[in-house]
Amino acid sequence: MLGGIEAGGTKFVLATGTSPDAITARHTIPTRDPATTLAEAAEWFAAQGTLAALGIGSFGPVELDRTSPRWGFITNTPKPGWADCDVAGYFAKALGVPTGFDTDVNAAALAEHRARGGGSGSLAYLTIGTGIGGGLVLEGRPVHGIAHPEVGHSYPRRHPEDAAFEGTCPHHGDCFEGLASGPAVIARWGKSLSELPADHPGHAIIADYIAQACHMLFASVAVEEVVIGGGVALTPGLVERVAERARELDAGYLPGGQRHAVIRPRLGGDAGIVGALLLAEAAARG
Ligand code: ZN
Repeated sequence: MLGGIEAGGTKFVLATGTSPDAITARHTIPTRDPATTLAEAAEWFAAQGTLAALGIGSFGPVELDRTSPRWGFITNTPKPGWADCDVAGYFAKALGVPTGFDTDVNAAALAEHRARGGGSGSLAYLTIGTGIGGGLVLEGRPVHGIAHPEVGHSYPRRHPEDAAFEGTCPHHGDCFEGLASGPAVIARWGKSLSELPADHPGHAIIADYIAQACHMLFASVAVEEVVIGGGVALTPGLVERVAERARELDAGYLPGGQRHAVIRPRLGGDAGIVGALLLAEAAARG
């Protein structure tokens, strides 16, 4: 039996499964302080029976360098209490099983990659919600680089009807997350994107920023597909609008552009937890 954790800033989704496709039990707990949250999660897994391995897709930033003594840590998050938290080490010790660890969005990208048939394909997974994160699977492998991609903190070109907004990112102001996350929408217009009328200019502005990120991913790392999840992406029509805008931004230039796709997750809201189970499966193999 495999165990998986989708460790988010507001909730932890826990699951067990006989394989990543076959979830046998699932449980959600609120994210409180680390000591309470990690203990509650470990207790739930202990009550499910013996695990072969555990996989964790975590909010970040995280340490993914296997040679670092801080591998498996959440590092410099502003979330109170969670900076320098040894998440993977806690569970490896508490449950005594091999433990896989990656970012929440890399886990989701792995799950979506597998759902489209696996193999050597390349895709990106963007989550547009309270924050913006991006995971990458290139030629079948998750990308870490020297840490992990932080697509949400790249800087898009400003939309001409949005020139005055200073942005909400505490580090960068008007980075992608500072312009297009859920809190950035509310800071400008007082409502979530799905609550704004269909003819509100906010829809085109947010779609433009997300489309710029998609184009950047198509152009810089040559993914075939950008999968868009997260709460903001549930806004009716948004993903279609992003796909159309990304095609305009490409202007027919990029090689392979006719194969580019901007889509909703094939796995819906399960991409993260299925990805965590995939990390467990990989950890079980050693
Ligand atoms: Zn930022």
